[in-house]
Amino acid sequence: MGKETAVSGIVAANESSLFQTYARYPIALVKGEGSWLWDDQGNKYLDFMAGLAVTNLGHAPVKVKEKLKAQLDELWHVSNLFHIPGQEKAAALLTANTCADAVFFCNSGAEANEAAIKLARRYHQKVKGTGRYEVITFTQSFHGRTLATLTATGQDKVKEGFLPLPGGFKSVPLHDLPALEAAINNNTAAIMIEMVQAEGGVHPVEPEFLQAVTELCKKHGLLLIVDEVQTGMGRTGKLFAHEHYGIEPDIFTVAKGLGSGFPVGAMLGKGYLREAFTAGSHATTFGGTPIASSVIQATIETMIEDHVPQRAADAGEYLMAKLNESLGGHPFVKAIRGKGLLIGIECAEPVGELVLKGQSRGLLFVTAGPEVIRLLPNLYVTRQEIDQAVSIITELIHEHSAVQQA
Ligand SMILES: *Cc1c(COP(=O)(O)O)cnc(C)c1O
Repeated sequence: MGKETAVSGIVAANESSLFQTYARYPIALVKGEGSWLWDDQGNKYLDFMAGLAVTNLGHAPVKVKEKLKAQLDELWHVSNLFHIPGQEKAAALLTANTCADAVFFCNSGAEANEAAIKLARRYHQKVKGTGRYEVITFTQSFHGRTLATLTATGQDKVKEGFLPLPGGFKSVPLHDLPALEAAINNNTAAIMIEMVQAEGGVHPVEPEFLQAVTELCKKHGLLLIVDEVQTGMGRTGKLFAHEHYGIEPDIFTVAKGLGSGFPVGAMLGKGYLREAFTAGSHATTFGGTPIASSVIQATIETMIEDHVPQRAADAGEYLMAKLNESLGGHPFVKAIRGKGLLIGIECAEPVGELVLKGQSRGLLFVTAGPEVIRLLPNLYVTRQEIDQAVSIITELIHEHSAVQQA
């Protein structure tokens, strides 16, 4: 042993064998069930971040766990050079429950967005024969950390030190229609948008703006790509957030909630895009393996059978009402917004300290930018758990303001 073993699971940065790419909270979580997590010291936490919108069914959901365990006894991995029955089933479940006709499975949100960008380019270049390649995205958007998806991301902080960035991306401010119109030219292939900018501060897109975006896409022959990596899988009160707006994207991407914690992603598209993604045009070793597919199937089946999106809608309404009741009009709170169980509380000052204080009181939540508290409980969260979380957050905000005034 070259390094001393820490008593708790917390390893100091200078002792760690990991690249220090994460500013980690001083907690090592070791067990989870439903809405609850336990650290290696035996402390219990109410989880209002759900692994950043991943464990939408709660920690260790029984049906998914059982299907995964059964699959572990059968077959873990085969190459996509073979037919994979479970992958076909997972895809059929997705197409039966969405406006999409075809699915490509991969392993993360960034990889799903890469597939979407590649499909858009290839559709224009191979099917339409136009040579279009540019993707327009929005300021404050977040689309991932690969070179292409960080370039697509409309936040400069993720780009620092990674020059040169790949070409073919442009960002315009969200809700600025003239800027969007001005950005479209003969090279534009697609517009990529989140239904709620999540990392960027929990900003739902305005329905009128989105309507205008779909009309621009139609008018100029552009593909509409919706990034549902965070908003998908029931999070906002519909299986996918674009359903709230009555639109049908050409392409949409999903990842976080799709595997209940198992790392999976998918890119979904309309039938007319099939001819762009032909054999050999795109691939990934681990996409839709038997294990991944079993988890995806069980997750979607549970969502449908248990009406999980509706649960999220109801719980979200309750959470929003409770927050408005106890924090609405408070001088520290500038806005409370969101959709379903993706809720942001925009505050008058940075809230990093409140996150840490919340942890010491047994509540886990995150931020979305420096001044927005982001709440993402699992979609089975109970009213009692919501009451508990709201009361802790309210306490934190009241105490913080009292200190500021003293
Ligand atoms: C998290 C996220 C991504 C990136 O997903 P990874 O699995 O981390 O690659 C992309 N888009 C949105 C909207 C996200 O929230």
